[in-house]
Amino acid sequence: MDTTNTAARAETSPGGILALFRDVADGLTKTDVVQQTGLSRTTVNQRLEGLLGAGLLVPAPEDARTRGRPAGRFVVNRDRGVLLLADIGATGLRTAICDLAGEVRAEREAVCDVSTGPEAVLSVVEEQFRELLTETAHADTDVLGIGVDVPGPVDFATGRVVSPPIMTGWDRYDIPGRVGPVYGCPVLVDKDVNAMAYGEQRLRYPEVDHLLMLKIGTGVGTGIIAGGRIHRGADGAAGDVGHIQVTVEDTKEPPLCRCGNTGCVEAFAGGWALVRDLRTAGHDVTTVDDAVRLIRSGDPTAVRLARRAARILGIAVADAVNMFNPRVIAIGGQLAHTDEQLFAGIREVVYRRSLPLATRNLQIVRSTLDPRAGVMGLSQLLVDGIYAPHRVQELIDVRER
Ligand SMILES: [Zn+2]
Repeated sequence: MDTTNTAARAETSPGGILALFRDVADGLTKTDVVQQTGLSRTTVNQRLEGLLGAGLLVPAPEDARTRGRPAGRFVVNRDRGVLLLADIGATGLRTAICDLAGEVRAEREAVCDVSTGPEAVLSVVEEQFRELLTETAHADTDVLGIGVDVPGPVDFATGRVVSPPIMTGWDRYDIPGRVGPVYGCPVLVDKDVNAMAYGEQRLRYPEVDHLLMLKIGTGVGTGIIAGGRIHRGADGAAGDVGHIQVTVEDTKEPPLCRCGNTGCVEAFAGGWALVRDLRTAGHDVTTVDDAVRLIRSGDPTAVRLARRAARILGIAVADAVNMFNPRVIAIGGQLAHTDEQLFAGIREVVYRRSLPLATRNLQIVRSTLDPRAGVMGLSQLLVDGIYAPHRVQELIDVRER
């Protein structure tokens, strides 16, 4: 028996049928759907009419161009609405407007310190959302979902940030309550590195169910994809490797971390810690990008510090590999752009310290979606929600009422 057909038959609701179309770029015909679902032609006709009527499916572009009898192919209507996305980092933010295929139609960047608090930061986000809608000639009512990611732990169910170490004034702040009402659409809030991990997995490694995303920016964090889903943990705090404590031989006194503890991974290897150490060594650096430039230029102190950071990151990642056994580790964040120095160091420690079984098929790669991994991941999470069977049924019911 064909296992593909068996799996598809389990979900023959309009939403289940729409899901068949999501994974094929050039669309499907009625006959394809009959064959893949085992449903009768009459039922398939009804389902497709509902999906076409709700604007969720449209005739494939080549059919629209053909003057003669169309071949009857249909594709997902990527222009059914738009998504607004905001990837908020420690020192900068990126906003984007996407179609329902997750393609970025326009985007903005801004320098913005997250510790100035939610009012200041979200004002910038809201202003950019307005600009993006104007630029792409969309109305507020075209917005089907908003996604926001932040550099701190999030209670995913409520969209509230929880006790974030670096996000002054954001604790328990209601982000959906602030940005949602104008557009009357769902708002999803997640930790930045979770969104990055999901984007990487869905768009670059769809065949990989277990992926670890390591972000080395101002701070250090990981996003875990286990069994094809984001593993957020009981309270949204999973993957916080930046605050694992490590012992480093050449350090008499472990450095103070932003979280209040001492000797954390990011207190040695985060971008902010490299800036601190370079300044102590007499270098004129203020930002993580300055530190990245210095490492790339081959400055001996900067390279030595980057190598030490790589070894420490390797220890934390090796522990994560032993615990989660990912197939792919994707590395992003500003410090992932320091040539091979950092990668080579992390790889060496991970392969030395992890169990052979866990590294047998492990790939350690640079994120190819970065710096858009966050917004791309948010778009995928939102589209999952929009195409969830119950929401598809709602859109059809609204039309038929
Ligand atoms: Zn810490």
